[in-house]
Amino acid sequence: RRAEFAAMRDLPSVTQDGARIELMVNAGLRDDAQALDVVGADGIGLFRTEFQFLVSSTLPQREKQQRLYKDVLDAAGDRPVIFRTVDIGGDKALPYMQRADEELEDNPAMGWRALRLALDRDGLMKAQARALLEAAAGKVLHIMFPMVSEPWEYEQARILVEHQREWLVKQRKKMPIAVRYGAMLEVPALAEVLDLLLPRIDFLSIGTNDLTQFLFAADRAHPRLAERYDWLSIAIVRFLDRVVRACDAHKVPVGVCGEMGGRTLEAMALIGLGVRRLSITPASVGPVKAMIRSVDVGELQAFMRNVLERAVVDIRGSLSQWAADKGV
Ligand code: PEP
Ligand code: MG
Repeated sequence: RRAEFAAMRDLPSVTQDGARIELMVNAGLRDDAQALDVVGADGIGLFRTEFQFLVSSTLPQREKQQRLYKDVLDAAGDRPVIFRTVDIGGDKALPYMQRADEELEDNPAMGWRALRLALDRDGLMKAQARALLEAAAGKVLHIMFPMVSEPWEYEQARILVEHQREWLVKQRKKMPIAVRYGAMLEVPALAEVLDLLLPRIDFLSIGTNDLTQFLFAADRAHPRLAERYDWLSIAIVRFLDRVVRACDAHKVPVGVCGEMGGRTLEAMALIGLGVRRLSITPASVGPVKAMIRSVDVGELQAFMRNVLERAVVDIRGSLSQWAADKGV
């Protein structure tokens, strides 16, 4: 089926009944941008900027960050690139950022990481914001913040970037034609305050890796727990359904950028819930696109609605049966 997926590259990601599903890729290194053309993706839906920090033996200077972001934007051409600000801390510790012993954490995944660290040590975030703004001169800059737990954190991060933009304008630097701000939904508490967050953001991206870890209180890296909870469990599907409906009500585009979206059946469920943007590993683009092209989204949405109304427990089983019956 490899050749079949390769042939998919230039075909549009459109369902049988004409719904367009944006298929983007997750990336983190300069060379990952090449994957866009190889697999025929619509853009980079998650650029993990911390990779550059993790592979470097010293803190990457602003110029170096800017060069990377510009190279990635150049490689993407007209296609959007969503840059996620650094998600360090937690399991992604930087060797050159020393911590005092009393700062060592028992639960790094739930610790001082991502936006929490970035807002407290905002020198790093300011440098990154300037690098992103200058790299995207003349283009649209998409920027999103990881591990937002409360709306004020998002707001503070957005204001920080806006202040850098104002400063750079005074320096007569050429700026992006627009900046679009997004939040990642990875912390379940944020879902309870979406009505407060959604009016402030340009897009929402659901990070299902961390989100499911926190929903089930199950370490995402723990080998014994890896297969224990299903992404298609009723708890997750109900949760995601509520989030997608809230986004639709506020007319805020919502995507999924966790690994869940790269599995064909999971992707089908997400599309059935109304998700229209997936950001996945490049290798999954072919199989997921093949599924998209063979499915009728109207029928799929009706099926998922029914599954939710009847509180079907074995969603995986019924969805794969449905797909087999429909020849998807
Ligand atoms: C996620 O948590 O789902 C996500 C996309 O971010 P990361 O895997 O980098 O934590
Ligand atoms: Mg995450």
